[in-house]
Amino acid sequence: MFIISSKNMLKKAQCEAYAVPAFNIHNLETLQVIVETAAQYRSPVILAGTPGTYRNGGVGNLISLVKALSREYQLPLALHLDHHEECEDIFNKVRAGIRSVMIDGSHLPFEENIARVKEVTTFCHTYDVSVEAELGRLGGQEDDLVVDAKDSAYTSPEAAAEFVQRTRIDSLAVAIGTAHGLYTQEPRLDFSRLEQIRQHVDIPLVLHGASGLTEHDVQKCIQRGICKVNVATELKIAFADALKVYFHNNPDANDPRHYMQPAKAAMKEVVARIIGVCGSAGKI
Ligand SMILES: [Zn+2]
Repeated sequence: MFIISSKNMLKKAQCEAYAVPAFNIHNLETLQVIVETAAQYRSPVILAGTPGTYRNGGVGNLISLVKALSREYQLPLALHLDHHEECEDIFNKVRAGIRSVMIDGSHLPFEENIARVKEVTTFCHTYDVSVEAELGRLGGQEDDLVVDAKDSAYTSPEAAAEFVQRTRIDSLAVAIGTAHGLYTQEPRLDFSRLEQIRQHVDIPLVLHGASGLTEHDVQKCIQRGICKVNVATELKIAFADALKVYFHNNPDANDPRHYMQPAKAAMKEVVARIIGVCGSAGKI
């Protein structure tokens, strides 16, 4: 009913210098927490799922849940494909009702990345679906996607300009020193590179790997042109840790309606904090 593209959401964020949080979802409970909290703060929100998330939850099931939540909370919602790599897979999900896509061809050589992304934008734009792509490569692990640190690469501002112009994407994920998963050592972000990319490219920029960054670093990124901040690992940890504590204290518990509550409450705190860091509260 109210599943929308993220194009206008991100354009507004770019104009008004805040970021839209993109939270990775997994099931009914994680969707409920994010949508309820976004509605409470009147924050735009992107609900992101990796290929593994859609395999696990079922594309139709997740779309139906998001439509129902959108109606319940009177909130337009972007349900997003995070790190999808296969064109046919993307096309099928768009036909099913998805309106926000990331095609990740960052593992491909430059020309092949452009060709793959162009194929996706050509298809998606006929459906009014927004397309994000990545240039450069983040290290770390997110679901099935594992990139060794030695294979990670920072985004070149000049290449970014050519990439955006030739692919006609709606937003660009940049590699400036962040990584997926948890940081084993303190990340050193290349803010001047981000500034240069911003000067070369006029579409919204996307920050992956925000779990574990300081609020100060995330806000410095937003001031330099980041319009979408992706958070996955931090939510999973908050949810799982609260669940572990609950079962430790209540070893005989077996009712998901009870044991999910502290996990949802812990995750809600993280969602609310990130909405604050992104400056997206009240932007609907
Ligand atoms: Zn990512």
